[in-house]
Amino acid sequence: MHDYQSAPCSWHGADWLVNAGCPPADAAERPPLAEKRHTRYITATENSMTQPHRNGTRPLNIGSVAIGGGAPVVVQSMTNTDTRDAGATLEQIRRLHAAGCELVRLAVPDAQAAAALKTIASHSPVPLVADVHFDYRLALAALDAGLRGLRINPGNIGGQDKVRCVAAAAKAHGAAIRVGVNSGSVEKEMLRKYGGPTPEALVESALAHVRMLEQCGFFDTVISLKSSSVTDTIASYRLMAARSSYPLHLGVTEAGTPMRGTVKSSVGMGILLAEGIGDTIRVSLTADPEQEVAVAWEILRALGLRSRGPEIISCPTCGRTEIDLIHLAEEVDRFVRSHPLAADRPVKIAVMGCVVNGPGEAREADIGLAGGRSKGVIFKKGSIIRSVEGQDALLSAFLKELDSLLRNEQ
Ligand code: SF4
Repeated sequence: MHDYQSAPCSWHGADWLVNAGCPPADAAERPPLAEKRHTRYITATENSMTQPHRNGTRPLNIGSVAIGGGAPVVVQSMTNTDTRDAGATLEQIRRLHAAGCELVRLAVPDAQAAAALKTIASHSPVPLVADVHFDYRLALAALDAGLRGLRINPGNIGGQDKVRCVAAAAKAHGAAIRVGVNSGSVEKEMLRKYGGPTPEALVESALAHVRMLEQCGFFDTVISLKSSSVTDTIASYRLMAARSSYPLHLGVTEAGTPMRGTVKSSVGMGILLAEGIGDTIRVSLTADPEQEVAVAWEILRALGLRSRGPEIISCPTCGRTEIDLIHLAEEVDRFVRSHPLAADRPVKIAVMGCVVNGPGEAREADIGLAGGRSKGVIFKKGSIIRSVEGQDALLSAFLKELDSLLRNEQ
């Protein structure tokens, strides 16, 4: 028996989840969302792994990107170039966009970085979010430069008058603010109260910051609660989802190198997304940010929430494998990732190790290859269409067939 409860929307006296597009109300009439119990309608059936349920969070926009209110989960990443170098930063933003990133965050550590934002924002193919700490003037400069998202921690931006100033400017520009709390930034009093950066401490810290914005009449807020502990991350977001209707940005911070970070992010975010918690995600990897985007999309695809481009299935190899299948699978993956049309082609590709089981096991694939001893076959929908001698010739023939499929020539 699940313990999720429904509750009426205390803003409008209507059901929040049914009214996911809750009409705007005057800020002064709004009770603090941070105090409101979150409405969740997950039933045992809906909360299955095959049909993750999307919670009805408060909808908002960052530029052209819709967040919350049942909108598709948004993929984010962050540049690691020097923001002062507008050219290098724009080049990375374009690569991230090509990889499927829908929102890009940039660190704005000083006035020089802020000065580069106008050029970056005016040429960026995606909405940008400025990551600002300590100096509220940098947040104002980012808004003036055209950025429609801020990531701040109201607790370190210089007091309530500065928070009020940033909130007023964000409201005037139609921008959203993400309140980001991580286990390393929890205030001393919270640490003392809870005996460390526990999920309760993270949530209480974030809600205190959210209330600072609410006191300024600002409600276009996204919350993130990041811990490098997967279990604490899950517990924190569950707790927050039960206590507020603000959209949630998911992430496991300092997740690590690609293999470890992918596992931690997939487990942490996967569990939450499967429960309907999370409106935007960022996979944090100690790697090129394009890899973060690729992993994020695979997480969403695995949960059936969103997909982008081809799906590649490949067998694990076994004692029957008589071809370098790992190399073949990597080459096919590389080809798809660099193909200019692949992002819009949801085809299923199979790379299998033997002719005995390959085509049969990948019957649902649109196209596939199955290796044999120094040769292999190419198949479509489980039926063999070609046999090719030699591994290199097999790969070349397969990529030609695949290219033709991606170009809709067959
Ligand atoms: S498809 Fe063939 S080679 Fe691959 S795991 Fe199955 S039996 Fe082994």
